[in-house]
Amino acid sequence: MKNSNCDTEVIIIGGGLAGLTSAIHLTKMGCKVIVIEKNSYPKHKVCGEYISNEVLPYFDWLQVNIEELKPTHISTLQFSSESGRTIETKLPLGGFGISRYALDYALYLKAISQNCEITEDQVNELIFKDDIFEVYLASGKTLTSKVVLGGFGKRSNLDLKMERPFLKNKSPWLAVKSHYQGEFANDVVGLHNFKGGYCGVSKVENNLLNICYLTNFKSFKKYKNIEEFQETVVSQNPHLKNILENSQSVFEKPLTISQICFEKKENVENHILMMGDTAGLIHPLCGNGMAMAIHSAKLASDQTIKFLSDKISREEMEQNYSSNWNKNFKQRLWYGRILGSTFEHSKLSEVLTNLITYLPFLLPIIIRKTHGKEINMTQN
Ligand SMILES: Cc1cc2nc3c(=O)[nH]c(=O)nc-3n(C[C@H](O)[C@H](O)[C@H](O)COP(=O)(O)OP(=O)(O)OC[C@H]3O[C@@H](n4cnc5c(N)ncnc54)[C@H](O)[C@@H]3O)c2cc1C
Repeated sequence: MKNSNCDTEVIIIGGGLAGLTSAIHLTKMGCKVIVIEKNSYPKHKVCGEYISNEVLPYFDWLQVNIEELKPTHISTLQFSSESGRTIETKLPLGGFGISRYALDYALYLKAISQNCEITEDQVNELIFKDDIFEVYLASGKTLTSKVVLGGFGKRSNLDLKMERPFLKNKSPWLAVKSHYQGEFANDVVGLHNFKGGYCGVSKVENNLLNICYLTNFKSFKKYKNIEEFQETVVSQNPHLKNILENSQSVFEKPLTISQICFEKKENVENHILMMGDTAGLIHPLCGNGMAMAIHSAKLASDQTIKFLSDKISREEMEQNYSSNWNKNFKQRLWYGRILGSTFEHSKLSEVLTNLITYLPFLLPIIIRKTHGKEINMTQN
């Protein structure tokens, strides 16, 4: 690997799914890696926690054994309109249900076992100068590296610092998630619509039920609190009413996030290869964000290794990554964005969700357009 006077070969900003996956990949291939993560592990995150099986060949290669975490195995999608009209379809590849608490922690332990350094700190700024990155941390430390991979999620202090253009667009979505004890089929992921949003329901490990919904801020702000919103709006869908009335939350209070936006982002900026949500967040309705984060980590790691072994220049590394990223994800994100903007208009979303329940062949088409195939381990 490249000889330099830097503290490390690769700094990864953000130790979520994309950051940790690339850390495991790069350390497996002998690279020196430091991950900077502002939070400690393990930690719950707002997420529907259904992962497409697309990632399994890659996890096998990384020797990440998902079965050890006792996930649920999900093969069916249940979809309902606001009024509760329902259709079901088989998911072509299927997926699994695992909490982010368990998954991110398992990846963290795996990365550490491969001598990856993981530092709890926040990156406040970075500069690229004379072919080297200088990374400034909140603790006052400065680290240097040949490569920086960006895995800092959907919205970070660094996006502001870098003045990333997507911040100029409106971010009208907020999300709420809790784990519950309650009855629900292990092999089903439910996508139930309500006025101004949709709610994902699926089982994760330990027989826990994940209920996670996304709604626009305009509908939410009319209500006093989450309970009132759930009782008045979410529960208008009879499936959600039934599920919520018969389940008990195991969280003291639900987790929430706001200012979620699905606007376009650049996948390479200031010489940083952006991965996962940092490169583009697909509408969660598609249930594909985690698979994309993991897959993009593979694409970024493949190019980083070629660059560090002097097989390609920095310019080629950036160009190859960008073109591979576009090949794999650009179309999925476009379809996701169309779905997202439809859901921003409550009348339009009502028409679309009803249409889907009356024309069931539409649902598998939407799934195909917003999901990928199994990650191909022979291409890099
Ligand atoms: C409501 C909702 C439901 C969803 N449901 C699903 C689903 O069911 N299935 C699915 O596949 N996808 C789903 N997604 C999408 C999925 O959660 C994301 O695509 C995925 O988490 C992306 O992983 P990531 O590694 O890019 O980001 P993250 O997992 O968010 O990791 C980013 C990390 O960077 C850290 N960080 C940020 N800034 C800094 C900094 N300056 N310094 C140091 N650390 C920093 C953060 O603390 C965080 O740990 C959902 C998303 C939402 C909003």
